Order: sequence, then structure tokens, then C-alpha cells
Amino acid sequence: MELHFDCTQCGRCCHDLRLTLSVAEAQAWAGRGHQVDLLAEGWPWPDDGDPDDPVMQWRKATSFPALVGDVPFRINLRLVARHEGPCPHLLPDMRCGNYSNRPRICRIYPLESRPFEQVTPEARKCPPEAWNSALPVLERNGAPADASTAALLADHRRTMIEDVDLKGRLAGALGFTLSALAGEGLAVCEVDPSELLVAFEEAEEQLWATPEHWTIVSNRQNTVDMLAGLDCPARLIAAGSAYLPSFADDRLPE
Ligand code: SF4
Ligand code: SF4
Repeated sequence: MELHFDCTQCGRCCHDLRLTLSVAEAQAWAGRGHQVDLLAEGWPWPDDGDPDDPVMQWRKATSFPALVGDVPFRINLRLVARHEGPCPHLLPDMRCGNYSNRPRICRIYPLESRPFEQVTPEARKCPPEAWNSALPVLERNGAPADASTAALLADHRRTMIEDVDLKGRLAGALGFTLSALAGEGLAVCEVDPSELLVAFEEAEEQLWATPEHWTIVSNRQNTVDMLAGLDCPARLIAAGSAYLPSFADDRLPE
């Protein structure tokens, strides 16, 4: 099966950003004074599950073990360039002003960055005319048709795994120990770019360890109650800069 695509340079993917970055890319992005957030989600992880399940193995490879109360979890941290409206690098004619140094994820788009997910045009920002069957083949049988794009995608996935330890120590440097329950949302650590750069330095110098004990935040009362019943630290939180929800908020207590 073939998926045909060509970029129309509409610029939609360069607006209202949440770009997943490697550590090196996040340092460069924050070094230019732009906002980078650290996002956290966690899975209860009683055992290692099926070694042939690619989803479980990807989750494991891109996360570290932690405890929520006495319950084993795995925590996934993502560094994300965030920008409302146009990317600070976007030029008025919709070209990238940072083209030679743009993050890998910009070069990969609209391919899916995770190994077990298929590209679906409906889930991407590209307009319908970008998916015409007369255009070049982007993906064949779920894999990039072009060797250089395949190499970029492989680099992106490899970096997501290699960066796990440093991102954990970064959370330690930032004192960030809040995670969403995976599938419900993402907990956000929002810091000034200059503070983030200092925390990166401290993480690289191994001045901080990856936090072992985490608290789950959720905007759903049932989730908080369920976790409290397991003696897991959990807190109700409203959607906002500290929490990106997948569901509407439950009503918070006055
Ligand atoms: S870095 Fe360039 S390609 Fe990436 S979002 Fe910004 S303008 Fe678009
Ligand atoms: S949204 Fe798609 S078509 Fe538009 S600029 Fe981005 S990659 Fe190209």
C-alpha cells in the first residue's frame, strides 16, 4: 500500500507548535530563547509484558522505572518546543528561517514518529491537495519510501531512546515529579529557557538523579480516587499550562 504526498508549503504544521525534540535540539531551541516544556505521562507497569508487543517494547525503551506510592510505573518524558501561533522561525512567505537547523521532527513531518503508528492524512495538518495520488510516494507498506527519510526517522527514534537517562536527570534538576496517567493527558513542567539550560548542564554533570517517586495528576476525579484507593499519591488538577488533558475537566472543588 502506498501513500502519496508532497508538501504544499501551506505552513500549517509550523503554527501552534508542540514539536518533540531531542536533548540536543531542545538545548539549541532554548538557547535561542524559545520555550521548551518537559511533558510527563506514566503507565502502571506490574511486569514487562509481551516482548513481541511493539507498543509495550517502545514504551519501555522510551521510559524509566519509577514508583507511585508502592506501585511500579514507567514514566515517559518528552521535551517539546511550544509556541502559540506561528513558529518563531517561520518567515512571512511560509518558508522556514531555520531550515538547515530545523528539528528532526520538522523534517519527518507528516510521517508518524512512533514505530507502531500509521500516517493518516486526517490526523495531519496538511491540506487534501497534499495527498494526491499523482504525487511522489511518501510511505510504502508503512515504511518511508525514501532512504534518507527512513534514516531520519530511525535517528529520531534512536534519540528518543538514548535521551531517556538525561531527561530523567533533567527532571531531577528541575524538581519535577508530576506525571499524567498515560492516555488521560500530559503533565507539564514549564520553565524559563535560561533555567532549562542551567538544568541541562546540571543533568549532564550528573548532579541530580532521576526521581524515583512520582505523583500522578489528573483532571478526572475517578482517576484520583482510584489511585488514592491504591495508596498512590494523586492530585486533581485543572487543564492549563501545567496539564494538557485528553478529556474535559471534572469540576474541581471550591
Ligand atoms: S523550525 Fe521551521 S519547519 Fe520547524 S516549525 Fe519552525 S518554521 Fe516550521
Ligand atoms: S502542513 Fe503539510 S503541506 Fe503544509 S507545510 Fe506542513 S508538511 Fe507541508
